[in-house]
Amino acid sequence: MSTAIPLTLTFGGQFARELEELAVPWQAEEAPDPQLLVLNEPLATELGLDPSSLRTPEGTRLLIGNQIPEGATPVAQAYAGHQFGGYSPLLGDGRALLLGEVTDIHGQLRDIHLKGSGRTPFARAGDGLAAVGPMLREYIVSEAMHAMGIPTTRSLAVVATGRPVRRETMLPGAVLTRVASSHLRVGSFQLARVNGETDLLRRLADHAISRHYPDAALAGKPYLAFFEAVIAAQASLVAQWMLVGFVHGVMNTDNMAISGETIDYGPCAFMDAFNRGAVYSSIDADGRYAYANQPVIAEWNLTRLAEALLPLLHEDQDQAVALAVESLGAFRTLYSAAWSAGMKSKLGLLPDTHDDVASPLVDGVLALLQEGQVDYTSFFRRLGSAARGTPETARSMFADPGAFDAWAARWLALAPDADLMDRVNPVYIPRNHLVEEALDAAIAGDLDPFNRLVDVLADPYTQRPGLERYAGPAPEDFGSYRTFCGT
Ligand code: AMP
Ligand code: MG
Repeated sequence: MSTAIPLTLTFGGQFARELEELAVPWQAEEAPDPQLLVLNEPLATELGLDPSSLRTPEGTRLLIGNQIPEGATPVAQAYAGHQFGGYSPLLGDGRALLLGEVTDIHGQLRDIHLKGSGRTPFARAGDGLAAVGPMLREYIVSEAMHAMGIPTTRSLAVVATGRPVRRETMLPGAVLTRVASSHLRVGSFQLARVNGETDLLRRLADHAISRHYPDAALAGKPYLAFFEAVIAAQASLVAQWMLVGFVHGVMNTDNMAISGETIDYGPCAFMDAFNRGAVYSSIDADGRYAYANQPVIAEWNLTRLAEALLPLLHEDQDQAVALAVESLGAFRTLYSAAWSAGMKSKLGLLPDTHDDVASPLVDGVLALLQEGQVDYTSFFRRLGSAARGTPETARSMFADPGAFDAWAARWLALAPDADLMDRVNPVYIPRNHLVEEALDAAIAGDLDPFNRLVDVLADPYTQRPGLERYAGPAPEDFGSYRTFCGT
């Protein structure tokens, strides 16, 4: 056997070892004709992997679990979850595998995970597969989120398998190689609790604490401190989504990571015109996961986490509930603080600007955007020019510029900091029409538009000449956008 560099990688099987009740050893399906479509070289290097070795046929097989590095025990992870509010006692990785953990060059433990690697015992009616388009889509959006500084799982590679996948039509199949600080979900705790084994629940919590919140171990009530740390991480995460206009689309409890990273990019999308009710997912008919509902849904999911953790919070159930309720109360405060601070930055206002002054300005501008169906991302970026004394580009976005002028006069009186605005208001986001254009070309065999888009999104806050078409809203004929789950 060759000794190509990626194979020297040491995979730990910490999750599989410590939590074997939640781990089913499994193998990825053999891909008939694996072709590397995209490799994230900076991420590979960060993981201590040699990109050129990963580009060899052997490296490509490693990326999809067809060649198992020494020490690795691939497992399908079991978890439960509330999907659209209804409880599913057993979900688990139906088409995914955890290859194992590696230690990156910063000493951090990172999961290497496969999506689209074939049926597992959790596949139910699913085929276990994924198509090239949705896997490249996750690659684009997750890497864009990372570049914006928002916690997220990462994308290491997408490999076409050479196996067709049956959806509405036959599509080329692919595996996404995903990297995360872990794949522990709210649903993992729900399963551990439902099994009624406090021992498993405790081991799961200890595992999560050691991986994500080591300080909690030092607290007087470690499991309560852990819960509070998850609350804080989610409050911060969802505030960041809201600030960039991201709609996750399927915030089921199995799609909420304990680490506070954005996970499971399915029917997600970025808003173009500001709309509190924005829903893109074809299956979210009631708008449960609409843009403006996301903070409330996060709080709802954290309440489900609290229920799962109760036996660890106090031996007396009533006291456990009282502790959980008190901790949950912090979510709204933390979320509001993160969101308000972020909105002040978007408007170029200093952090110490009093809320009595900032809040009416924030509410006022969002009402104008909603009313005028104004493109959220380009408006805030153009507002930077207004802060520099050139209001025309922002002003021209309103059918009724008078209302904007009145708002802008009050805002300009606070001397907004345009440089601060440019650091937090992205120029380039994964706009739906650009993503679709890149995926259509990629599926037809041309990866250039995909690679260009990924490049542009890697530096979202720096406006560059020649990239104007990446900075504007969709052309009128793009129509209303629909996204799909489980593709
Ligand atoms: P999601 O909401 O997309 O994260 O997926 C919900 C559940 O469905 C998870 O347990 C997935 O593993 C499973 N799933 C989604 N698509 C497939 C598929 N094509 N084959 C098997 N399981 C799937
Ligand atoms: Mg999921």
